[in-house]
Amino acid sequence: MKRTIKDLKNIQDKRVLLRCDFNVPLDKYGDILDATRITASIPTIKYLNDQNCKLIICSHLGRPKGYDKFLSLFPVAVCLMKYFPNKVKFCPKVVGDEVKRDIAKMKSGDILVLENLRFDPREEENDLSFVKELASYADIYVDDAFGVAHRKHASNYGVALKLPNAIGFLIEKELKVFEDAFKNPKKPFVAIFGGAKVKDKLLLIKNIIGKADTVLIGGGMAYTFLLADGIKIGKSIVDLELVDEAKDILVEARKANMKVILPVDHVALKYDRVVKTNNLDADMVGLDIGKRTIKLFAEEIKKAGQIVWNGPLGKYEDKRFRKGTFMVAKAVAKSSAYSIVGGGDSVGAINTLGFADKIDHLSTGGGASMKLMEGKTLPAIEVIDTL
Ligand code: AMP
Repeated sequence: MKRTIKDLKNIQDKRVLLRCDFNVPLDKYGDILDATRITASIPTIKYLNDQNCKLIICSHLGRPKGYDKFLSLFPVAVCLMKYFPNKVKFCPKVVGDEVKRDIAKMKSGDILVLENLRFDPREEENDLSFVKELASYADIYVDDAFGVAHRKHASNYGVALKLPNAIGFLIEKELKVFEDAFKNPKKPFVAIFGGAKVKDKLLLIKNIIGKADTVLIGGGMAYTFLLADGIKIGKSIVDLELVDEAKDILVEARKANMKVILPVDHVALKYDRVVKTNNLDADMVGLDIGKRTIKLFAEEIKKAGQIVWNGPLGKYEDKRFRKGTFMVAKAVAKSSAYSIVGGGDSVGAINTLGFADKIDHLSTGGGASMKLMEGKTLPAIEVIDTL
């Protein structure tokens, strides 16, 4: 078992470096559009602050190439000030004398938020000089950044090797949810997969054989499976190199009595025209699941005891191809099954429709949760000490 913050003793007055995932969406004025990722780490921050330690918080935000004023963590620090009045200070640097001065001035109970880690390219390179600098700020390291736990970066991997460490409540909860869901699934276990990256999801489907009762496949990845089943897919997105593997998975799944349901109709583009069709002609591009598929999927979702959903069922960014994803979100929210939703687009659909409180677990990490579902371990968690 990994050490958690509850196992850390005598941290009062100590300097604790906390890695969070505050990769929140911002509008062009720097206002936070969705603070879910911040609120998700509040229990960890509150617990550490209650221990009266000196808390130094770091995170990445977006994918900056060097300094980018539109990706500053300042709005995040302002958001935290509302939760911890008079305790939070923002440091506009990640490394250097200003950071060291601010840390030296901290009193027990203070919270210091550092600037975006990714303004320094050494963060993603897990560069040793950057690791040493970050490690020099603190006596203890805590990781609560589930969203990047599948990455080996300086602030979540390198630093953990240099300091006594623990995981925060958010990571602890995410790990438990996925472990329970795969070890003791409530039956029938219905998995829903969408999105375009077939390669990423093949392993996931392989790992779910023997655990899930039904798998519903939509989105761009469905066309590789449809082709593997000998069905015409027109000009829809496909990974031809993976068709044979998809065929093997379908055979294996059917042998194991796992029901795999593929789309039976589509919303497609025929040149510039949106068409609804059961069969994709050579000049059509399938971009969303159709009405009959939505109905089929909704019936399975209704019967489920547990649902895991990752990935949009269509080209969700385009309003014309959003219905499949929205209707599935609605069916999952309405279902009485234990529900877990992961991945930016699926979580986005749930939030847009205001269904967040109807889902048992909205994961804060799409990529990290996929790795767990593939049965893999996460490097940033592997390096945390065990009890
Ligand atoms: P992923 O990162 O694998 O979860 O894929 C998400 C992306 O899949 C989104 O940007 C969607 O627009 C895209 N997508 C979903 N369905 C389709 C489709 N039928 N054709 C092309 N792209 C799709």
